[in-house]
Amino acid sequence: QVQDPEPATAMLAGAPPAAARPHASHKGSYGDVAVVGGAPGMAGAALLCARAALHHGAGRVFVGFLDPAAPALDPQQPDLMVRAWDSLDFTTMAVACGCGGGEAVRAALPRALHARALVLDADALNAIAGDGSLQSLLVARGQSGAPTVLTPHPLEAARLLDLTAAEVQANRLATARDLARRFACVVVLKGSGSVIATPDEKVRINPTGNARLAIAGTGDVLAGMVAARLANGEDAFEAASAAVYLHGLAADRWPAHEPLTASALASRLVA
Ligand code: AMP
Ligand code: MG
Repeated sequence: QVQDPEPATAMLAGAPPAAARPHASHKGSYGDVAVVGGAPGMAGAALLCARAALHHGAGRVFVGFLDPAAPALDPQQPDLMVRAWDSLDFTTMAVACGCGGGEAVRAALPRALHARALVLDADALNAIAGDGSLQSLLVARGQSGAPTVLTPHPLEAARLLDLTAAEVQANRLATARDLARRFACVVVLKGSGSVIATPDEKVRINPTGNARLAIAGTGDVLAGMVAARLANGEDAFEAASAAVYLHGLAADRWPAHEPLTASALASRLVA
């Protein structure tokens, strides 16, 4: 039995306000995020994701660049810890962002798929779309109950399902549900009215956000927000719903005369 989409008020059901941190807590209480990505020419995507995770409440954020020539430090965000991707500890959390279409992401994914919790975005999803053995690993992971969120935009969703982007857009609810069922993961089908779906047929449609988000890098920011919430131990459906809602809300509240860029968004998230 397929359920109707839940009302918008459900979007924040699992999200505690940022100010609700217990007094005696420490950085270890809020989880680690390890961002894997930043292939040549795409270091920025990994940094945007990492900055967003930091600003959205992760205790510690590590970046593992796939580009061996990537910088060893983000001078504008020195709190991020840059490591070689294959030395990252994936016990708590991994994100795949700005991975490029090369061999490096296919080498990194089998390891990332063993993280405690996982967000997969962009070229990590494209790599999975073209690789049956990675698909089997992802399905097995999802079926084991490990928290996993896929954040495709319509073209990435189309590749995963062997459809066209137009077919995805004509059936957004059904596509998100189909992806969630097929990969046994929580799915965020991005775009105007992002759809969040679970393998057991729960579905929500996000009411926030606007076309000012239609700019490079905002998807990487969203992935970092979801990752921060998973690192904090939130349920995957609630983490994805709250992150999508707050990402859109930040854009809706953005001053009309100020340019909205992904880097500005990452540093000014709504808690
Ligand atoms: P990506 O496609 O990966 O670059 O991600 C873009 C982000 O911006 C996603 O979170 C989208 O849902 C959001 N976005 C893009 N265009 C719109 C729009 N017209 N209305 C609401 N959200 C949007
Ligand atoms: Mg993207």
